[in-house]
Amino acid sequence: MRLIEWRDRTAPLSAADAPFLALGNGRSHGDVCVNDGGTLLLTRGMDRLIAFDRGTGIVDCEAGILLGDLLHWCLPQGWMLPVVPGTRFITVGGAVANDVHGRNHRVAGSFGRHVLEMDLLRSTGEHLRIGPEEHADLFAATIGGLGLTGLITRVRLRMIPVSSDLMLTESIRFGHLDAVWDINDRLGAEWPYTIARIDCIARGRRLGRGVLVAGRHAPPQPAGTPVPRWRGRSRSLPFDMPFSLVNRHSVRAFNAVYYRAAPLPGRRLQHVHGHLFPLDRLRDWNRIYGRRGFYPYHCVLPHAHARDGVRTLLKRTAASAQGSFLAAMKTFGDLPAPGILSFPRPGVTLALDFANRGPRTLRLLADLDDIVSAAGGALDPGQDARMSVTMFRRGFPQWERFATLVDPAFSSTFWRRMNP
Ligand SMILES: Cc1cc2nc3c(=O)[nH]c(=O)nc-3n(C[C@H](O)[C@H](O)[C@H](O)COP(=O)(O)OP(=O)(O)OC[C@H]3O[C@@H](n4cnc5c(N)ncnc54)[C@H](O)[C@@H]3O)c2cc1C
Repeated sequence: MRLIEWRDRTAPLSAADAPFLALGNGRSHGDVCVNDGGTLLLTRGMDRLIAFDRGTGIVDCEAGILLGDLLHWCLPQGWMLPVVPGTRFITVGGAVANDVHGRNHRVAGSFGRHVLEMDLLRSTGEHLRIGPEEHADLFAATIGGLGLTGLITRVRLRMIPVSSDLMLTESIRFGHLDAVWDINDRLGAEWPYTIARIDCIARGRRLGRGVLVAGRHAPPQPAGTPVPRWRGRSRSLPFDMPFSLVNRHSVRAFNAVYYRAAPLPGRRLQHVHGHLFPLDRLRDWNRIYGRRGFYPYHCVLPHAHARDGVRTLLKRTAASAQGSFLAAMKTFGDLPAPGILSFPRPGVTLALDFANRGPRTLRLLADLDDIVSAAGGALDPGQDARMSVTMFRRGFPQWERFATLVDPAFSSTFWRRMNP
């Protein structure tokens, strides 16, 4: 793969370097950000904040800026990104191209809903301004478009007002999967941010036990209230483990400790970063999986089949004894995603990570595919390196319309895999 540092958003592409693909911060777990035999355009240097309207919360920025840098700047001014995934170390371009979702999908939808317009560099040399009214088809293909429609150079998006950088949070323990649905419904819009962490090793009457973590933006605190400060410290695993630390015993022990430690009594205040980005405290956490790495398995099941489907997925996972650390389950609301290929859609999403144990793990994942397909669900292309062409086309029935909008000089290892 050739690498080209992309700093100047007005620079032209040279046809000799095709096929192109933009790389954000490389936080996708899969081959949507890989371009074997082609060129990767490294966008992290294209990270300027162009304009910010403090009155309306509308931001204009280059696509390589990190969400964390935007937050660092706008939170103290009372503005927050409307949608954030579980890490702040991703670029705005990557957030658009995977149309990422957060814990508040029920009330905010996906990231792309908050994008007002973008600049897109096509291999023809055109620098197009695209939005819901200008080049609307290309706009819809670029949101969730996995970098295949061209290079996003500038993004204009709308923030939401918040009155502090704190969140009020609550943890609720549930002893069985059946209990989580009622808790989730009860929380409603009063707690916009929710995520259930599920112990996917637990079986029998404990199947799907876990902790539901809820949050909402906190009002300013009265003078004298002790408030948590964000120190911004994170630890890092300095090297790949020679073997995976993730095995049946370590997962069982970790999941059990997590379950027993919650709920903390009552509600508590947390800094936005501490609450929404717990994994960012351990940089390079993926190294615990050792040199063979891990397979992410991120799926969505429509509401009508979600309860049965999630139960079956967890049963199969528990029976395999390959269970991942806490699975993350979130509810997607009914707000439609604007992207032709967007992954978020009404239903329930489950994210599991499995240490790579070769054919054994692949067999398990194929079984999970059958369950997801039978439920009419889909896998997240942004977190995948193995889904079949059939699975992709079933999960994204508009793929043919999308394909007509792909820039012919852009491609990725993922896209070639899906179009053999
Ligand atoms: C700890 C952790 C937690 C996560 N939690 C969530 C979550 O809760 N919800 C969620 O949705 N995702 C989640 N993710 C996944 C992550 O948010 C996405 O994969 C995100 O898209 C990565 O952004 P990136 O900047 O690293 O982009 P990359 O991974 O580098 O690229 C992603 C895609 O975007 C394209 N792209 C990047 N920049 C541009 C550009 N300028 N122009 C055109 N295309 C571009 C690339 O070609 C590629 O197809 C999580 C990831 C981690 C590591």
